[in-house]
Amino acid sequence: MNSYQFNCSKCGSCCRNLNLNELYAEFDRGDGICKHFDETKNLCEIYSTRPDICNVMKMYEIHFKQFYSLKEYIDMNESSCKKLRRITIKK
Ligand code: SF4
Ligand code: SF4
Repeated sequence: MNSYQFNCSKCGSCCRNLNLNELYAEFDRGDGICKHFDETKNLCEIYSTRPDICNVMKMYEIHFKQFYSLKEYIDMNESSCKKLRRITIKK
């Protein structure tokens, strides 16, 4: 059994920086923040039906499993989360 898991801290940084990735352009309300993001609660309003591109593990199963081990994939994602958090703190 594989013990690697992606641990989202629910910091909301990914949902606040959509302008950094054109794949998320349709969700950007114009200032980089997702139109489905509740800033007061710091949560996605459509979490249970969020798009596949917002679902880390679903993206792994569909697109990245053939290229990366689960550990490699999770490490890359966690590294990106750290960078996004630094950008968000500076805003
Ligand atoms: S930046 Fe990473 S840790 Fe923060 S909410 Fe997004 S997926 Fe979770
Ligand atoms: S749909 Fe939800 S998870 Fe995806 S970027 Fe928007 S607020 Fe974040």
